[in-house]
Amino acid sequence: MRILLLTPPMTQLNTPYPATAYLTGFLRARGYAETVQADPALELVLKLFSADGLARVHSVLSAKKSKASFAPSCRHFLAEFESIKRVAPAAVRFLQGKDPALALRIVSREFLPEGPHFAAVSQWEGSVEGGLDAAFGALGIQDRAKFLASLFLDDLADVVRDGVDPRFEFSRYGEKLAASQASFDPLARALEDEGTLVDEILEEITSALVERHRPDLVGMTAPFPGNVYAAFRMAKLIRERSPETRIVLGGGYANTELRELREPRVFDFFDFITLDDGERPFLCLLEHLNGTRSREELFRTFVRDEEGKSARVRLISAPGLHDIPHREAGTPCYDGLPLGDYLSLLEMLNPMHRIWSDGRWNKLTLAHGCYWKKCNFCDVTLDYIGRYDAAPAARIVDQMEALVRETGQSGFHFVDEAAPPALLKAMADEILKRGLVVTWWGNVRFERAFTPELARKLAASGCVAVSGGLEVASDRLLELMNKGVTVEQVARVTRAFTDAGVLVHAYLMYGFPTQTEQETIDALERVRQLFAEGCIQSAYWHRFSVTAHSPIGRDPARFGIEILPEPQVTFARNDLPFHDPTGTDHEFLGVGLKKALYNYMHGMGLDEDVRVWFGSPVPKAKVPSALIRRALSTAPSAKSALES
Ligand code: SF4
Repeated sequence: MRILLLTPPMTQLNTPYPATAYLTGFLRARGYAETVQADPALELVLKLFSADGLARVHSVLSAKKSKASFAPSCRHFLAEFESIKRVAPAAVRFLQGKDPALALRIVSREFLPEGPHFAAVSQWEGSVEGGLDAAFGALGIQDRAKFLASLFLDDLADVVRDGVDPRFEFSRYGEKLAASQASFDPLARALEDEGTLVDEILEEITSALVERHRPDLVGMTAPFPGNVYAAFRMAKLIRERSPETRIVLGGGYANTELRELREPRVFDFFDFITLDDGERPFLCLLEHLNGTRSREELFRTFVRDEEGKSARVRLISAPGLHDIPHREAGTPCYDGLPLGDYLSLLEMLNPMHRIWSDGRWNKLTLAHGCYWKKCNFCDVTLDYIGRYDAAPAARIVDQMEALVRETGQSGFHFVDEAAPPALLKAMADEILKRGLVVTWWGNVRFERAFTPELARKLAASGCVAVSGGLEVASDRLLELMNKGVTVEQVARVTRAFTDAGVLVHAYLMYGFPTQTEQETIDALERVRQLFAEGCIQSAYWHRFSVTAHSPIGRDPARFGIEILPEPQVTFARNDLPFHDPTGTDHEFLGVGLKKALYNYMHGMGLDEDVRVWFGSPVPKAKVPSALIRRALSTAPSAKSALES
């Protein structure tokens, strides 16, 4: 059976999303040798930014009547079109790492036509003594050029968004049509449209894939809402071109948002939708399509019964089946993906932040699920968080060695929900024992098991960065959310990592139930101190949302909020509308929080009173001015047992 696995646009451009690689490795190991994979998102961007693609973008813009109302990105594009078309393919090649010599021309600032995104450079030059030299030094030519070429590409992405298709971004496409959409109608209407140039190119790519591989089964993963519109577009075209091909959709979006699926029209595009880990449902599906398993024996798979008015959607999950244990899920296989064509982008002058978009990382997981699984805002009732299943350290390091051999790359990103400290320690010991040279980073909980000693060991094994949740940066709210950490503990753990040479990123949250204005300002003050004391180098504020599968979503009254009436759900459900009687203006505060963080991440404004970031008066922070410094001078807990 010929199987084609696809990640529909858009997710990321610097490295493949790992789902198809995991499934390809697994299926080939189970004897499905004709399993292939492709990354249409990368192909889409490379086609759009080729000389031919840019000429098509130019035609679309030229055909528009109201040029006076064009966004600055489009006006710049039209004015500089000939040079943009000439240099864009070279800039893409440079960002793919294929033409390092071009760096010297890019840093001259005479080579790339500079559009609106280059205002960031002027801003930086105006506010930091030494300008870009301060960020890159005199010899950092490659990085400086990468930064400038990334801004150039960001300008081109804006042209596509502003002039061709407002749904387009580098990391998502048509996201709003799918995210928490109770009704399928908006997506169905968009799919009936003939589409934009982006859709046209996507259809060309899809046609070519079908032509080349002639698949019996196409499996698509939609990790996020920003992949869903393109998945349906591609499925529609596959149906037209190859009606006998069966099509299945799975991935993070289905796992979280489609659990209450009732909409029969979805099955005009897909034959099957699977939930949670894909391996077992996929195996069952293949056996069904091979004729060795009945339809009623599928596993966690939505199907449509009947057609027309009597059509209904049903989730089939035969009893007695279970998921493939994590240790048996095989090693990801990247065969078929053009690893040399991914684009390394450097869009922000922050050493930790770049790690997400710069460089090629082999993605792996130490474990399935989260070993803590207690945070009240998290989807702990779902399989991807709630079912913890770890692989032995030796097996993980075996996988790392296999991936280095296959891809030639020794960088790893562990995409665990939260990597367990005991397992990380065992993995580090194994890496050191084998003398393996690798570079890795991943997501952790900032818990006290990460002692300075362990942080140093992880660094010695190749750890260069960690990310973890500090969330609301308030002990009262951390306790309410059951995060299991305190601010002082986070300060000590993050400092231990920093002292070991490991970069640290903190996930922050605002707008949590009952959070007051004073608590938000105090949280920012704690974050300021963490930056100032060198505990963290990068962070991001997320606005809290109630999700349907979190303890807060299940029992909102316990957290002092009320869920507002929802429309009837036949399609997607995730974020729930809610009312918090505390009445804090989180919209207003969010703007100041983000402004402050942007500055902190560039090493600026760390001595300022936190009130300066808000346009209107806010209360003075009540946090002691040396809170974090005091926490750091307190000896860390003698108890270094690895709790997991
Ligand atoms: S938020 Fe992170 S640490 Fe908390 S339960 Fe979810 S995955 Fe685990």
